[in-house]
Parts: sequence; structure tokens; C-alpha cells
Amino acid sequence: MKKIILTGDRPTGRLHLGHYVGSIKRRVELQNTDAFDEIYIMIADSQALTDNFDNPQKIRDNVIEVALDYLACGIDPKKANIFIQSTVDALTELTFYYMNLVTLSRLQRNPTVKNEIKMRGFEKSIPVGFLNYPISQAADITAFEATCVPVGDDQLPMLEQTREIVRSFNNIYGETLVEPEAYVGENEISRRLPGIDGKAKMSKSLGNCIYLADDEETIRKKVMQMYTDPNHINISDPGRVEGNVVFTYLDVFATDADFAKYLPEFKNLVDLKAHYEQGGVGDVTIKKFLNNVLQDVLRPIREKRKEYSQNIELVYDILEEGSKKAQVKANETLAKVKEAMQIDYFNGDKFKNEIKAKYE
Ligand code: ATP
Ligand code: MG
Repeated sequence: MKKIILTGDRPTGRLHLGHYVGSIKRRVELQNTDAFDEIYIMIADSQALTDNFDNPQKIRDNVIEVALDYLACGIDPKKANIFIQSTVDALTELTFYYMNLVTLSRLQRNPTVKNEIKMRGFEKSIPVGFLNYPISQAADITAFEATCVPVGDDQLPMLEQTREIVRSFNNIYGETLVEPEAYVGENEISRRLPGIDGKAKMSKSLGNCIYLADDEETIRKKVMQMYTDPNHINISDPGRVEGNVVFTYLDVFATDADFAKYLPEFKNLVDLKAHYEQGGVGDVTIKKFLNNVLQDVLRPIREKRKEYSQNIELVYDILEEGSKKAQVKANETLAKVKEAMQIDYFNGDKFKNEIKAKYE
């Protein structure tokens, strides 16, 4: 069986550090192992419209921003097809057929969707399209026969829903669809990086992000605003590391080499944490250090982004080319699905012969 990756992001804004550590960094690593036969990376505009249907301009504007972020992070269009979801008609059709296999109560139980409904104030009246998006995600994943889906934690219920649809489809119509595996990172924090406010996951919709395209000064300001330990008032006070966003980020990003470069008075993060907990280390010190660490991560991404943005027609061509390839692949799967469901009437002479045998 072929090894195929499908992942994507909603073009509801530029990509942020959560996307980078939760998914994109690993996509690039997987891409560069050359262990995969096909890689599809989807800009999920149709899905983004399910809760932004009244703001199509926002989605349209962000398609190119997300594409720039991908390329800036090292997604290589020679190895990975970057495509726009709405250009692939077969996905909508697959969604329609998969809807038969899922109950309303099953959709309402999805913990990620439940949480998102609350965040968007949809409790009283949920748009059907929004509630249905896990089914459309099953269409996305299965259309490309994906075996591996690198995602953050919040997407695990979607993967489970997809797997249920695959099993149910194959049970009823015969072995047709491929069951995917979620691929979440080993580092638990990176699977759900909190926002700079420390309250929830970093999310475009919550305005608590550090964006990959943020300039140096913006990053510095955001780091300086970060939530730490409200009881750590004087430098000499003992500080708390748990729930302190600066330490959460250092856990993900800081290496021993960073300590040698920017904070040589401490050996490593264990050492810094111990001193912070004892008292004697100020928030400005840890924030300045984190700022240096993040600047080193984001500078090359920002520079590469600028290069691509100065050659925007190339980015357009990459999207057009990727979308065409995605259409071909998804149509192949749709044909298999329709054959399995016996709704492939004009595919060869089978249906013609059946009705002739019955009536002639
Ligand atoms: P929105 O608020 O519009 O839903 P988002 O910031 O949640 O945007 P998505 O496009 O929904 O971003 O998510 C794209 C991918 O990034 C998914 O695989 C998701 O799991 C991952 N991801 C999103 N936010 C984080 C985060 N804070 N930490 C780790 N992974 C994340
Ligand atoms: Mg999301």
C-alpha cells in the first residue's frame, strides 16, 4: 500500500507558532524523509467558510497568506502538492455520500466541535455546514487515500470520525476506502500550544497568537506581554513554572545551545526552572531569553516568506498546479466510491446490460 500524507489548515488567518510546532514542522520533516509516495497539503477554504460564510473576502485573502507560510516553513512544492480545497469538486460529493453514515448525535458528541460551538456562540443555532465539517474532513482524508495525517491534538476526534466512516463504508459497500492514522508529535505541549494569554490553545480565532510572519518588534512585544506567575512580584520571590506560558514555550523551543548562546549563567532549562522556583530570577530575564530563542526560530521563516512574496506569481502557479493534481487524485477515489455504491451508471456497459437483461 502507498504511503500518503494529507494535512491542511483553514485560511482564517496567517499561520502561527501553534501550527508550526503542532503540525507544519513535522510535515516538513516527514516530507524530507522521502518515505512517502504522495503528499497533499490542503488550504481548507470550504471548511473555513462553514463558520466564516459571511466573510468570504477574509478567506480569499488568507489563501495566499497560508501558502506563503507553508513555503516559508520549507514545504517543497516538488514533493508536496499544495492545493485549495474548494477547487476539488469530488470532496463535496464524497461528503454528501458519507453523511448517510453518521448520525446527528454522533456529530454532536465530538468534543472539539462542542468546544468550537461554544467559542463561536453557535449554541442556540448551529449552522448545519459547521456541524458537518468532521464529515467533510473525512472526505478530504479519504479522497487522497491518506495513510498518515499529521495534526495537533484538537484534530484527534476528527480522525476517529473518519476512521468510523471508513469502516462503516467498507462494511456496507465492500473494501474501498483506506483507514488513516493520526500522527501527533511526541512532545505533548506542541500538540496543543497555548496562546500567549495562557488560557486556551493558540488559535487564529482567539487573537492570542504569535504569527510566523510577525516582525521582530511585534514578537518582542508579545513575549513581553506573556502570562507568567501573577504571584511572582519581586525577583526574590519564588516563582511557579506550571501554567507559566514563558516556561511552556521554553519547554518547546529552548535548546541547550540557546542557553550557551543567550543565558550562559544557566546550564539548561532544568537549571533555570530550579532557580526560578527558588526565587532570584526575574520575569524580564526569562522573557528576554525566550524572545532571543523565538527570534532565531522565526527569522529564517520570515526571510524566506519575503522572498516568495516578491515572486507571488510563482506561488499562484504552485497553487494552480497542486490543485489540478489534487483534482485528478480525488476524482479517482470518487469513481471507486461510486462504483462501490452502485451509482456509476454510465461507467462502461454494466448498467446498460443489466437493464437490457431485465427488459429485453
Ligand atoms: P481556527 O481558529 O480558524 O480554527 P486554528 O488556529 O485552530 O484556526 P486550524 O487551521 O484549525 O488553526 O488548524 C490547523 C492545524 O494546526 C491542525 O492540525 C491543528 O491541530 C493544528 N493546530 C492549530 N492550533 C494549534 C496549537 N495551538 N497547537 C498545536 N497544533 C495546533
Ligand atoms: Mg481550528
